[in-house]
Amino acid sequence: MSDDPAEGAERKMRFLFALRQRGVTDPRVLEAMERIDRGEFVRGLFEDRAYEDTPLPIPCGQTISQPSVVGLMTQALDVGPRDKVLEIGTGSGYQAAILSLLCRRVYTVDRHRRLVTEAEEIFRHFGLSNITTMVADGSRGLAEQAPFDRIMVTAAAEDPPGPLLAQLKIGGIMVVPVGQSDAVQTLIRVRRNENGFDYDELRQVRFVPLVEGLG
Ligand code: SAH
Repeated sequence: MSDDPAEGAERKMRFLFALRQRGVTDPRVLEAMERIDRGEFVRGLFEDRAYEDTPLPIPCGQTISQPSVVGLMTQALDVGPRDKVLEIGTGSGYQAAILSLLCRRVYTVDRHRRLVTEAEEIFRHFGLSNITTMVADGSRGLAEQAPFDRIMVTAAAEDPPGPLLAQLKIGGIMVVPVGQSDAVQTLIRVRRNENGFDYDELRQVRFVPLVEGLG
């Protein structure tokens, strides 16, 4: 990757333009995505494709999501500055880093220790001190920190996992891709109200599956 500042600025402009074109319009989300350099989260073979709007491989057979999907999911989560947010599926740490600029604290969980360790290093590099990481099976949620204002699931479940629904505050929002593991999935937004849950379908997506147990 070139360190030429003019080239870097141009690359960033193109990156943000592509996000806007695909519907990421919330200024707070765009600002967070401008600050968190995706290039830091993609290492090795695919490094020079970090600014393309495409998912890319990361270690442990997982993927860093497509930037526009990260933007649209973050926008759909409607995060506020006082929110306590749970993310299931740390992966590269990219999504957690963006969320951390928009809320009070992010708890992020992955079943692969290696991914969590590498993400922690990048969080330190960016000086992000409001992210708590955990190696755990996120399909059970994080009972000891529940309830949460917002829950973001970045791996596909067959149905919204029951323990996660139970750990959502009343008035809270969860965004989760739902469907069979290798088919097209539907991104769902769940809102908890006094009497139960409202669901709305946002768009088609494709995520790696939510797998039970540790990696
Ligand atoms: N949010 C990530 C992309 C996630 S890829 C990013 O910004 O880069 C999906 C991740 O979910 C993978 O890292 C995978 O290990 C994790 N995962 C799958 N099933 C899980 C489970 N039951 N508990 C915790 N993490 C899980």
